[in-house]
Amino acid sequence: MTIERVCIVGAGFSGAVIARELAEQGVASLVIDERSHIAGNCHTKRDAETGVMVHKYGPHIFHTANEIVWDYVNRFADMMPFINRVKATVNGQVYSLPINLHTINQFFGKTMSPGEAKDFITQIAKSDIEEPRSFEEQGMKFVGEELYRAFFDGYTRKQWGIDPSLLPASILKRLPLRFNYDDNYFNHPFQGMPKDGYSSLVENILKHDKIEVRLGCPFEELEEGFQHVFYTGPLDRYFKNDIGRLTYRTLDFEEIRADGDFQGVAVMNYPDRDVPFTRISEHKYFAPWELDSFSKTIAFKEFSRECEAGDTPYYPVRRLDDKKLLENYEERARTISDVTFVGRLGTYQYMDMDVTIAAALDVAAEFLTKNR
Ligand code: FAD
Ligand code: UDP
Repeated sequence: MTIERVCIVGAGFSGAVIARELAEQGVASLVIDERSHIAGNCHTKRDAETGVMVHKYGPHIFHTANEIVWDYVNRFADMMPFINRVKATVNGQVYSLPINLHTINQFFGKTMSPGEAKDFITQIAKSDIEEPRSFEEQGMKFVGEELYRAFFDGYTRKQWGIDPSLLPASILKRLPLRFNYDDNYFNHPFQGMPKDGYSSLVENILKHDKIEVRLGCPFEELEEGFQHVFYTGPLDRYFKNDIGRLTYRTLDFEEIRADGDFQGVAVMNYPDRDVPFTRISEHKYFAPWELDSFSKTIAFKEFSRECEAGDTPYYPVRRLDDKKLLENYEERARTISDVTFVGRLGTYQYMDMDVTIAAALDVAAEFLTKNR
């Protein structure tokens, strides 16, 4: 039997992309979200006082090596050039991130060449760790103890709330290490920022006759039945957390308003353990093409803490000791054939926007193939 209308829970990138792909092949959808806006955690809105486009749930930079995904977002938004050049304040000094030749030379008070720095890091890195199992082991193998303690240990404890020896190595594998002065935070060839913000991008994806969007609508309160549901909410929440809660981190933001400039850069990280926040982002710097038009500025201090019932889940933690619980939920999810679990929360994975979009395109294609 062909399915003609589906329900999609969540109007973030996952939900929007699936809805669009299905709509273009004639399958209608009702996209619901319990929030009052679309775009999920990528939601952006202009601040009334400053005019700055604010990333409401924290800074989002689009970066990818996937040309299909890059072309996809360019269909729905003008992607403006943007390179993230992050700084870090460590022990009273400002350094360049990701760790590069400038960082290494500055940190050790040297003037090493690329080759010398490479040899130096090889000497200080813990090369006896063959297959790093945890974030900590990965860090020690990656840059050695001193750099690890200065840049990664404190930041990670604050960000994730647990000992880095209990976190997967994959979290640190996201970051490059460079032996030149390239301070582009990401390695990807395609990087940018949607000119009118992410909410406008997602709105354009959702703009189709066969897509109905209903906001302020939790799935649990939806009365209508559907032959198929795409669920992008938290995996454990779908099962009413009946065998326990998966661990997520949530964020609190402290707003800073100032005349002119606040910190002179989009993102300043604060890895020191005794500083309670992880980073400060100054949002006008995410839109360099309109930087001159602001006389005031708005920035946010970011505090990470454990996500309790009722908080917004931001980051799935994937604690090594949560593995059994997660496998149990995953196993049950696989047995429900009329619900597809998808996205950052639905699959409980730390997914960037490009990975999210690629996964949503795959999920939609698979559904369409089966549904024909
Ligand atoms: P979400 O955006 O979380 O959308 C899920 C939606 O489902 C939400 O709107 C939620 O309200 C809704 N929902 C959940 N449960 C229910 C329910 N039961 N009923 C109704 N609605 C429900 N990625 C990058 O590529 N670059 C970055 O720089 C970057 N920075 C990030 C910074 C932060 C602070 C965070 C948290 C993430 C960042 N990401 C970044 C990742 C990016 O946010 C995700 O890839 C993307 O949001 C995933 O989209 P999604 O649709 O799967 O999930
Ligand atoms: N990280 C760190 N120090 C930094 C920046 C990052 O220890 O100054 C670690 C931290 O654990 C973080 C991970 O590296 O969660 C990935 O960094 P990224 O900047 O990608 O984090 P995100 O922007 O996703 O929060």
